[in-house]
Amino acid sequence: MAGPGSQWIGKEEVQELLEVMSSGYLFRYGNLDDPGFKHKVYSFEQEFAAKCGVRYALATSSGTAALVCALKAMGIGEGDEVIVPAYTFIATYSAVIFAGGIPVLAEIDESLSLDPPDIERRIGARTKAIMPVHMLGNPCDLDGIMAVADKHGLRVIEDVCQANGASYKGRQLGSRGEVGTFSLNIFKTVTAGDGGVVVTDDENLYTLAFGFHDQGHSPLRAGVEVGRRSILGMNFRMNELTGAVALAQLRKLDRIIAVLRGKKRLFKESIGAITGMKFRTLNDPEGECATLCTVIFDNPEKADRVSRRLGTTTVDHSGWHVYSNMEHFNRYLRERNLPHGKGAYPRTDSILSRAINLSVGVVDAGLGAAFGINIDSSPEEIRQTAARFRGACRDSGMDLDCV
Ligand SMILES: *Cc1c(COP(=O)(O)O)cnc(C)c1O
Repeated sequence: MAGPGSQWIGKEEVQELLEVMSSGYLFRYGNLDDPGFKHKVYSFEQEFAAKCGVRYALATSSGTAALVCALKAMGIGEGDEVIVPAYTFIATYSAVIFAGGIPVLAEIDESLSLDPPDIERRIGARTKAIMPVHMLGNPCDLDGIMAVADKHGLRVIEDVCQANGASYKGRQLGSRGEVGTFSLNIFKTVTAGDGGVVVTDDENLYTLAFGFHDQGHSPLRAGVEVGRRSILGMNFRMNELTGAVALAQLRKLDRIIAVLRGKKRLFKESIGAITGMKFRTLNDPEGECATLCTVIFDNPEKADRVSRRLGTTTVDHSGWHVYSNMEHFNRYLRERNLPHGKGAYPRTDSILSRAINLSVGVVDAGLGAAFGINIDSSPEEIRQTAARFRGACRDSGMDLDCV
């Protein structure tokens, strides 16, 4: 089990894929007027942009590739600093590094995403951009972050890889910053095995991101290109097989989110109130993907005892999203005399040592979410899982309030 989209792969994906295979043509570019060309990547881009409420969407080979294309399109390069959260997936950092920039970490707050006042403390002469990451299916405090960006003239690129389909105050994530990026790997809301998307309203940024993702080609390889190539690029293209699956999955996104929200509501209600534990702050409870449910205890000992009883870990012991657990990234930071290792971001350390991620739709031990429910859990299973959680709290010496 991984993400909810992965769990819901069915005949729709097979149908789209068969169309492409039967056509015998797997490359993303072709003549749209030719019935033998199934243009799945193109259709996916059109539908994704419409859903997101932006003018342009560019499909890529991964979320990491989408991030690099976006950063390159924005002109982030040599020595430019990008402020990123201390709690995120490694790709957020590596994309900045391979774009030529320097990731500058900032603390998270109890929404488990960037804390706007701490962003402000990290701004220096070389700061060019802020990269808010909408962690675990939930929006960042985008109003707070945009206010800091506007005040200091910084650019904003949203990493929406973990929150495809979520919104903030009625607007789809990814549409508020200059650029937004998404992932289609197996742990995300919807999946095509791998894949990514860049979205933007800015034609120039789209042209540059497109060019970077395909050796400098113009969007859709249209028009006279020679002599007008926008940027030196690479190859991060999506192919038609991936596009076919991505398209079928995208059409399931609304239903996936609606189902997850219902299951999460029942899960939270059944967990109820427990003294010494609260649910993570949601910056927009109406807009979440509901892929995960994070609980935060008032001290790390309680969190540790409960997590052990559940056969899972506190978030600080999960291996992939905590800066201090990334030995390869810490090596990079250490070599540059940048803050690194546990203790460098004490507020983040404290929150993560007191938090447990319960799965709702994304079941991922790498996130620390090995315990919980999934998109197909029945109401009975959800209540039982909640009861096990309450039992683990009680056995750890905590007081349960009546549900
Ligand atoms: C998944 C993810 C990415 C991109 O991952 P890919 O596997 O390259 O698609 C980037 N940032 C975050 C926060 C992620 O969770």
